[in-house]
Amino acid sequence: MPNFVGGHGPANAKLMIVGESPGELEDHHGIPFWPNAPSGEMLTILLKENGFNRNDAYITNVFKYRPPGNNLKNIHLVCDPEAQIELLWQEVLKLQPNCILALGATALKFLTGKNGINKYRGSILQTSRDNIKVVPGIHPGNIINPRGRDGAGQEWKFILKLDIKRAISESKNHAFNLPNRNIIIIHTAKQLYNFLQQFKNITNWSLDIETNQSIPCCVGLAPNPWNCVVVPLFDLQDYQKNLGIPMHELAAIWVELSTFLSKPEIKFIGQNFKFDHEKLIAPARLIKWERGKLHADTSLMAGVYLPEFPKRLEFLTSIFTREPYYKDEGKEFDPRKDKIEQKLIYCGKDATTTYEVYEALKRELHIQGTSNFYFNFVNHFHDLYMEMEAEGVEINHALRAELAEAYDKQISEEYKELTSKIGHEININSPKQIAKLIFEELGLPTRENTQEDTLVALLGNHTTEGSRERYILNSIMKLRQLGANARYLKAEPDYDGRGRTSNRITGTETGRASDSILKPPVRPTKVGYTFKTLPAHGPYSKVIRSIFISGTEDYLLSVDMRQAEARITSLLANDLEAVEEFDKIDVYKKAASLCMNIAIEDINEDQRYVGKKLRLAFGYGIAKHRAMLDINSESKKAGIDINISEKDTGTYLERLHAGYPKTRTVYHKEVMTICMRDKRTLTSPFGRKRTFYGSLKAEEVYANIPQSIPPDHIRQAYFRMEKDPIWDPTEIRVIMEKHDALNYLVRRGKEHKYIPIIAREFEAPIDFSKCSLPRGMLKIPCEIKIGTDYKEMAVVK
Ligand code: URA
Repeated sequence: MPNFVGGHGPANAKLMIVGESPGELEDHHGIPFWPNAPSGEMLTILLKENGFNRNDAYITNVFKYRPPGNNLKNIHLVCDPEAQIELLWQEVLKLQPNCILALGATALKFLTGKNGINKYRGSILQTSRDNIKVVPGIHPGNIINPRGRDGAGQEWKFILKLDIKRAISESKNHAFNLPNRNIIIIHTAKQLYNFLQQFKNITNWSLDIETNQSIPCCVGLAPNPWNCVVVPLFDLQDYQKNLGIPMHELAAIWVELSTFLSKPEIKFIGQNFKFDHEKLIAPARLIKWERGKLHADTSLMAGVYLPEFPKRLEFLTSIFTREPYYKDEGKEFDPRKDKIEQKLIYCGKDATTTYEVYEALKRELHIQGTSNFYFNFVNHFHDLYMEMEAEGVEINHALRAELAEAYDKQISEEYKELTSKIGHEININSPKQIAKLIFEELGLPTRENTQEDTLVALLGNHTTEGSRERYILNSIMKLRQLGANARYLKAEPDYDGRGRTSNRITGTETGRASDSILKPPVRPTKVGYTFKTLPAHGPYSKVIRSIFISGTEDYLLSVDMRQAEARITSLLANDLEAVEEFDKIDVYKKAASLCMNIAIEDINEDQRYVGKKLRLAFGYGIAKHRAMLDINSESKKAGIDINISEKDTGTYLERLHAGYPKTRTVYHKEVMTICMRDKRTLTSPFGRKRTFYGSLKAEEVYANIPQSIPPDHIRQAYFRMEKDPIWDPTEIRVIMEKHDALNYLVRRGKEHKYIPIIAREFEAPIDFSKCSLPRGMLKIPCEIKIGTDYKEMAVVK
């Protein structure tokens, strides 16, 4: 039977801390969050870092007994859960603290009745009995040892520290003092006019729209964090038989709004403003857009300030404002049940919190020294990606249908072969059936799952050339890959028939963008493609790329930086010989030759492919297991038949280190030292910063600067190109970005006008003098290709 571990702390404590249940050491010592136990230690340190002594808080748990097996589901075996909750309330009501720090989902639920610690953490809530403030935070145990839905990476310790800071500050008094925002719902054009007049000297307005089935239905406009109008774009009230807005009044409202939004001096502050922008221009035609009309986008600012954390408004609101979590009011809005005012107020809250977040981020960027980087560079990404997305790419629909059919046929043939080999039917997408086949029928070593990495590892380490097991594993992976390719070919284009993607500009910590298909609320149904993950090598790549075409008036023009990341790593390693080698020989063939002990002239294309992957893996200090998985699985995706074992991968990587020793002795050593010296922060040559809040994983530290340079370089090149006096956007438009490459549509016959400008700007030397690892200049050559489809493009430079 576990011991009773009661609450501990002064009877007049103003801060109460509530966890879930005692752990092993707490059970032994009889003190909740024992300071030398893992969770207790983190809590004690974070309180101290916030200038607070844990002895000044009253610390307790929802359940006072350690559950058997440390599993809360078993708590009823050792105590009466209802009685325990009652006991907790007695503690709360007796102590009457000013604020309770609720650590984890259990404390949140029993103190406030709310579910979802990731939603509510950082909010100022109230207890469901009495009226005491509660600030929830992620449980330290879920950071130390992430589990299930609420599991969080090490970097979340930083956020827990902020939440603890808030709880400490709220414990100074019992008043809630939540933000009071004046949100006016517009019914008449006159009302809108008066409001706009009241703030006529303000030029930066935060703007947010809400949509109904992807159609904008209201616009929230805020001149500061405390005032806002919400303008319905339809007679939303009438829909619910409330106060209606007559048609002539609605027309006057639209005119007033459109005139105001289109004024050249009015600039916008938004959150992920690409979404609002497209809706205001495409379906609503409410604004006359000009480059530079976006003053700031809080999601882009957050991507610069804290690249490792979410950029969603709900997260930013939780750390930069005192507004409690409110997002469910909008997300769960149901027009058949809820009052329309709820949606309108929600829109107003978004517009005002966006303003408040913007002001906070502006201050933070200033302190971080990234204001110029943001306002003079990153903020312009909005226009670049908007224009790219608007353009889209033409699709060869007939070929698409033909290829989709051919793929279906190939899938059914491959499936027939597989089932004849295994002697029964199988659902390739059922993890249970695949597990039974692999671990029971084939007798391969049992693993936790049957995902790609697992199959690849089994294939590399536990099957032999020509064996039945190897055939079956290969066939399963091939079927999965064919299925994924067929999904590409069957994906619906956008409603105008063109291929489009939706870019997430702040996609990764390194500054790379990511992309996704278009889905609600961007479009009412799923359409479009992910261009950045289009296979780049091998036969599958050619098939899929062949459906994207230039149209009869244009050519597709693609430009990419050649071997950019590998060159950068060599420069950072101060290995100038290696840097020069790139322009003299095929470095990937050389890598393959070094690894495999084969003469460079005898290296074939598949071996070169392996050499290329290994050259990058060794530059980033990737261990042999991960490198083996990546090479084997990526080659499968590309339709190339390569299986290398972990042992061989290890040997190859060591040979590369022996061939290029400075990568390890100079680059890896120096970057880690500097990262530690500069408070775990690295700065790219362009001024992009990354602070590592979690555990310092060597591969991530080594990859950071080399991966962050190409996307920023090509964006800078793009902005310079279009400033060239002869650049004419009616003749050349950018349509895709892919980390180190841009794709354009260029008017046929005009390509030679633009090739020199593109080459000049892509090849402009990169100045490493302001990088965390100061170095000289690096010129990275580019390759330019032209074609009528994305598959067959001729190299023109
Ligand atoms: N986890 C808790 O929730 N409480 C403790 O006291 C220790 C670990």
